[in-house]
Amino acid sequence: MRLGTLINKIKEYNPKVDMVLVRKAYEFAEKAHAGQKRASGEPFILHPLHTAYILAELKLDPVTIVAGLLHDTVEDTSVTLEDIQKEFGAEVASLVDGATKIKRLGVQDMESYHAESIRKVIMASARDIRVIFVKLADKLHNMRTLEHFRPEKQRRIAKEVRDVYAPIAYRLGIASVKWELEDLAMKYLQPETYQTLSVYVNKSAKQREEEVARIKAVLEKELIDNGIHAIVTGRPKHLYSVYRKMERKKCCFEEIYDLTALRVITKTVKECYEIIGIVHNKWRPIPNRFDDYIAMPKPNLYQSLHTAVVGPEGKPVEIQVRTEEMHAVAEGGIAAHWKYKGVVADDKFDTQLDWLKQILDWQRDAKDSKELVDMLKIDFFEDEIFTFTPKGKVVELLKGSCIVDFAYAVHSSIGDKCIGAKVNGKFVPLRSILKNGDVIEIVTASNQKPSRDWLKFVRTSKAKQKIRQAIKEVTDIPIATIKDVKAEKKELEDWIIGSSVPDARIKLSKCCNPLPGDPIVGHVIIGKKVSVHRIDCASYQAMKHKAKRSKANYSEVGVFWVDNPSSIIEFYVEALNRTGLFAEILNTIIKTQTSIKSAKAKLIGPHLVECRFTMEARGVNHVQDIARKVSKVQDVKRVYLAEVEKE
Ligand code: MN
Repeated sequence: MRLGTLINKIKEYNPKVDMVLVRKAYEFAEKAHAGQKRASGEPFILHPLHTAYILAELKLDPVTIVAGLLHDTVEDTSVTLEDIQKEFGAEVASLVDGATKIKRLGVQDMESYHAESIRKVIMASARDIRVIFVKLADKLHNMRTLEHFRPEKQRRIAKEVRDVYAPIAYRLGIASVKWELEDLAMKYLQPETYQTLSVYVNKSAKQREEEVARIKAVLEKELIDNGIHAIVTGRPKHLYSVYRKMERKKCCFEEIYDLTALRVITKTVKECYEIIGIVHNKWRPIPNRFDDYIAMPKPNLYQSLHTAVVGPEGKPVEIQVRTEEMHAVAEGGIAAHWKYKGVVADDKFDTQLDWLKQILDWQRDAKDSKELVDMLKIDFFEDEIFTFTPKGKVVELLKGSCIVDFAYAVHSSIGDKCIGAKVNGKFVPLRSILKNGDVIEIVTASNQKPSRDWLKFVRTSKAKQKIRQAIKEVTDIPIATIKDVKAEKKELEDWIIGSSVPDARIKLSKCCNPLPGDPIVGHVIIGKKVSVHRIDCASYQAMKHKAKRSKANYSEVGVFWVDNPSSIIEFYVEALNRTGLFAEILNTIIKTQTSIKSAKAKLIGPHLVECRFTMEARGVNHVQDIARKVSKVQDVKRVYLAEVEKE
């Protein structure tokens, strides 16, 4: 592997790339890593070079490839992020920064390590998904060269790759990377099973190839006779997927691996269906084995037609049919329809980011990380069913999901209020299990509340999480109401605002949303209750004017911001709802080095969403900084503080 190899690879799919920057990044990294060696004894620069090459195989844009070359410089050499920014610009620097941050995770116990690491990977990628590509390429090359490490380290890295990175690669639809990561992880985590399986696979390979060749010849002739141009290939099976299938179906190797698998790639969708017709005409289809992922793509955008038929030798043959474009997406994920510019404006890209947004929405604080990992494990691997709303919208659910799962998948407010449903026109109870193709009409009642019993039969993590949250909120209320209100308000005053009236009960007015640092004024509403406005607040000015004219009792008090270095504040953001919004706000706050205790969002109008963040503030300037940055996020309409209390 040399720089020239990388450059040739890039030229294969994008001849217009200006190689000066790639060359410069390579030379920069080579100089920075000079003298460093890999565990294998090779010069270190080969690692970033291989990483960049993998990114080029995924046909990524030049910025990502340059970031791949530089990804270890900030962590492992004297190079700083500022150096990268100066030499290669902000975009590259931000990708290198993201990759470095994921690497700098504090390792505590294994469980929380994985939970935390998924969280960080997701946080980093919500800002720019390309960070994940760099990280996946980095991990893939490390896995390929893992034999040079101590066994203990091998297992630790392999476990992380199996539990964190392979699922992420799957979700992003990068099948080629997912397969390889899983097979390599299995090699180190289950060395014996891996060995046994690979022996089997190699032994049966020759016989299988002959079989494939025979069926392939028959099928190719049929296609030509029908005037269809398509490429028929034998389909490689991956060790880990064979192993998982054996586990799932509780059967032995022969039963799984004797399956003959073919893939047909053609030009158009119409031809895909025609080919299935030809196949089903030629050989007897096995019932319930036809899946149409063209009409209903998988969440990671995978599209294909799957079928299984009884082959010429009486054995089952699995056949997948897809177009060239679908094939590219299946192998390379979103990288396959990567736009060189304006990536974010891509519709399909947005769809693939939806799951990231969901995870961020579901996951409220670090305590839930364990739950998050469980959720990822369940939701990534189990089979899905497709159900429909009365208007025909597809709702995908886990197999075994019930009415309540469906209701929560549609909207959490519908989940909270559901009392029953009509499935295909018939009334059924909440716990009824749904089947593929069911049309579900939910019946709600305004006085309904989620019940703990529901947890016994719901299947999806989203429903579980929402029910737990609702139960928790209900039980939380009485505790809050018996608190000494006076004491609480006093604490509020201690933190954010000082007043010339001792023991004043301060209220930040809603009309002008005073934010820390704004010039403010207070006036007594009643007793010791003081309302605080911005000095330039129009309604305050009007009120003052009116009070003067009518000679009404009006008293102004001095109020001032107090710089308390560690307080818990509640920070509200109102914005127009859109995909990725919550993640963007969250990331904007995280970038100000703020520790977030909880983050919630709810719809408060047809298009309006209210996000609430509880966070640790380090004084007036810090809050001001957050407010300023968050208000610049696209579609944010208003930011304000409320219910402040001292820790
Ligand atoms: Mn690396």
